Amino acid sequence: MTSVSKLSSQEHPLIIAGPCSAETEEQVMAIAHQLKTTGTSIYRAGIWKPRTRPGMFEGVGAEGLKWLQRVKEETGLRVATEVANKDHVKACLKHGIDVLWIGARTTANPFAVQEIADELQGVDVPVLVKNPVNPDVNLWLGAIERLEKAGIKQVGAIHRGISPLGKSVYRNNPEWNMPMTLKELRPDLLLINDPSHIAGNRQLLAGIAETALALGMDGLMIETHTNPDAAWSDAAQQITPQALTVLLAKMKSATGTGTVMDTADLSNMRSSIDYIDEQLIDLLSYRMQVAAEIGQYKKQHGMAVVQEERWAELLTKNVSQAAGRNLDGEFVTQLFNSIHRESVNRQNLV
Ligand code: PEP
Ligand code: MN
Repeated sequence: MTSVSKLSSQEHPLIIAGPCSAETEEQVMAIAHQLKTTGTSIYRAGIWKPRTRPGMFEGVGAEGLKWLQRVKEETGLRVATEVANKDHVKACLKHGIDVLWIGARTTANPFAVQEIADELQGVDVPVLVKNPVNPDVNLWLGAIERLEKAGIKQVGAIHRGISPLGKSVYRNNPEWNMPMTLKELRPDLLLINDPSHIAGNRQLLAGIAETALALGMDGLMIETHTNPDAAWSDAAQQITPQALTVLLAKMKSATGTGTVMDTADLSNMRSSIDYIDEQLIDLLSYRMQVAAEIGQYKKQHGMAVVQEERWAELLTKNVSQAAGRNLDGEFVTQLFNSIHRESVNRQNLV
C-alpha cells in the first residue's frame, strides 16, 4: 500500500498554503515568511496556471521555480507546485521542488497524466492528484494508479469540487460523496481538502474546511496571499496568513481540542448541511419521478402497486449498505418505509 509518511509525518491536519500564483519574487517571499508561524507545512504556488479562458494571467513560468527554491532555503517550508506536462516535471525536479500536484483539468486527461507519470518513472517525489473537473471517481483513481504504476510511492489526493452546471453558491460544488467514495476505495491514501477552489470566496472557506475535517480528511490546501484583493488570480478566495491562523485555530476548536466555534462558523458549517439537504431533496424528487414511471408500467400490465417481495429485498439491501456507512438500522428502516409509502402513493395516483 502507498506510504504517505514522508508527506504527512505527524502533521494532522497537514496544511498546505500559499498563493494561487507566484507573481513576483517579493510576493512569493513575503507570503512564505508570514506563513512560517501559521502551522503551514508545505508552501504552494502555481507557476504555470491552467486558465479556463485565454488572456488571463498564465503564470510566471520556470523563472518562479527559483523563487520557490529560495522559500525552501530561507523558511524550511517544503514547496509544491502544479505540473501539467513532462516539461513542467523536468523543470521542477531540476529545481528540487518537494511536492508536485496535478490540477483538476489535467486529471481529466489520461494522456497528460500518463506523460507526467512516464517522466516521473523511478523518481521519489510525492504527487498529489486533484479530482477531475467532472464527477468521475474512476478518472481520479485512474490518475493515481498511473502514478503508482510509474513507481511513485507517495501519492495523495486533493478534493477541490466539480464544475457546477447551473447557479451554485460554490465555485465548484463539493460533491462530498466523491472524496468519500475515494476514501472507501483507498483508505491508505492521504486525502486533502481544497476549500479555496470549492468556495471561490472567503466567506464559505471555514465551513467547507470544517466539514472536510469532520468527514475524516487529512489536511487542507488553502490559498493565501499578503494582499488577497490584489492577487493576479483567484483574488476573491484568497486569505491573508493572519486570517489563516484564525481559521486554523477554529479548526482545532471544532475538532474538540480548544474553545467552541463562534456563531459565524456554525452558520458557515450549516451551509454545508443545507447543500447536502438540497441534494437529498433532488434525489428524492428523482426517485418519485422514476416511481411514477414504474407505476405506469404496472398499470399497463395489470400488476399490483405493492410487490411485497421486492420491497423486503430492497429494504434488507439498503439497511445492510447503510450499516456499512455508519447509519443506524432503525433510522434507515424508518426512512425507507416512509419513502416507500410515498412511492406507493405516487403509483396509486397514476
Ligand atoms: C490551483 O490550485 O491553483 C488550481 C488551478 O486548482 P484546480 O486545478 O483545482 O483548478
Ligand atoms: Mn487558484
